[in-house]
Amino acid sequence: MKIVVLGAGIIGVSTAWYLLEQGHEVTVVDRQPDAALETSFANGAQISVSFCEPWANAGAPFKVAKWLLREDSPLLFRPRMDPAQWRWGLSFLTQCTTSAFERNVEQLVQLGRYSHASLKTLVAQTGIEYERLERGILHFFSSQADFEAGAVGAEIMRRHGVDRRVLNRDEVLKVEPALAAFGPHIHGGTFTPSDESGDARVFTQKLAQLCAERGATFLWNHDVLALEHSGGQITGAQVASRETGKKLALKADAYVAAMASYTPALLKPLGEYLAIYPAKGYSATLRLKKPEQASVVSLLDDGRKIAISRLGDHIRIAGTAELAGFDTSLDSPTSRARCASLVKRYEELFPGVADTSEPKYWTGLRPSTPTNIPYIGRSKKASNLWLNAGHGTLGWTHGAGSGHALAELMAGRAPEMDFAFYGDALPAKPIRSMAPA
Ligand SMILES: Cc1cc2nc3c(=O)[nH]c(=O)nc-3n(C[C@H](O)[C@H](O)[C@H](O)COP(=O)(O)OP(=O)(O)OC[C@H]3O[C@@H](n4cnc5c(N)ncnc54)[C@H](O)[C@@H]3O)c2cc1C
Repeated sequence: MKIVVLGAGIIGVSTAWYLLEQGHEVTVVDRQPDAALETSFANGAQISVSFCEPWANAGAPFKVAKWLLREDSPLLFRPRMDPAQWRWGLSFLTQCTTSAFERNVEQLVQLGRYSHASLKTLVAQTGIEYERLERGILHFFSSQADFEAGAVGAEIMRRHGVDRRVLNRDEVLKVEPALAAFGPHIHGGTFTPSDESGDARVFTQKLAQLCAERGATFLWNHDVLALEHSGGQITGAQVASRETGKKLALKADAYVAAMASYTPALLKPLGEYLAIYPAKGYSATLRLKKPEQASVVSLLDDGRKIAISRLGDHIRIAGTAELAGFDTSLDSPTSRARCASLVKRYEELFPGVADTSEPKYWTGLRPSTPTNIPYIGRSKKASNLWLNAGHGTLGWTHGAGSGHALAELMAGRAPEMDFAFYGDALPAKPIRSMAPA
């Protein structure tokens, strides 16, 4: 089949890879000059199968209300005259119950396991190097109350088959000795040894290169303008060159929409409404002055809700979320405060370890759904259109598996996981071989 993939982030490129594996003729379109230049560019770097709780839980509305007025709060909701934002917010509230949380976690654990297995196979097959560290993720707490809540959370996740261990302060420091200077403030932690970290941009760009070597065509610097449709089918994708302005209609047997937060606008004219809303996040990447004193285990700092990952001789600090539309500027007072707070916190945790004089700041829009579960499956309005979008906080974690699963669905096969795919995709079968003992 001829297949056009719209979007070359981790999700689009992974999908392209698995479609090529099945012998399809693949064209990938993106408005940027290379892969992974938007949300997949400088994220928290965590392959976080075991820390996958969605934002929506029974306590979330109270926490969000408490944070509303703080410029440096982990989650900032800026109400706008935007019906999509309000619809998303209301839908989010419906997920803030214990039963919805349990249901959503179950799905995210399934997708995470499947994706981790897919990633490991893909890396073994291709040998892609991307500053991968298989050292687990350590979540540490700087208040006793938060630690106790974290221990309860670990128990809940263990019920879902996740190996999340509760550690006292000494055990935390044994897992990551680089935290020693901050040790007196640590009350304990939780640790998931099977999680890992690595650079999503490097991985995606190298995978795109391998796709090109296997025959994929990449149409860079092209805006996707619209989908042409007739009789329940997509008949073409209208694109325009950013360099020449020239428009063309790409014709294929099937189309994959993997444009993250921009996917709903593309599908709206078909009458298909997706609850994906951008949640702006930030990262700072610092050069290490003393690499031997820097952490290698990927960290979650509960006090600030930030991730810290080692990427070779650099450290990445990422986090915070703002529900405030599609703005990707870095120079507003809020953005400046949020970026500065990442570096300030790193210096509190690891004094003198990194060069804080020239931080590389970045912002990206997490394509967030109220459940944190992505749309993977067939469009409800066009039978040759497939969706792979809405991966929220976990698109790097779920990238390989989402691409793999969609390619399987498109081939008429059920991926080996118990997951509620979108549309009338095939029912999935339980993932027996990878289920924990
Ligand atoms: C601060 C932050 C930290 C994060 N940390 C983690 C983490 O530690 N672990 C994790 O698993 N996930 C993390 N994430 C989430 C993860 O980065 C995203 O879920 C993932 O990158 C989404 O991938 P994507 O391919 O869907 O989107 P993208 O990478 O944004 O790809 C979509 C592509 O579509 C293209 N596009 C969009 N519209 C058009 C158009 N009209 N025409 C042409 N091209 C178009 C864009 O150029 C882009 O290349 C984090 C996100 C943020 C913001």
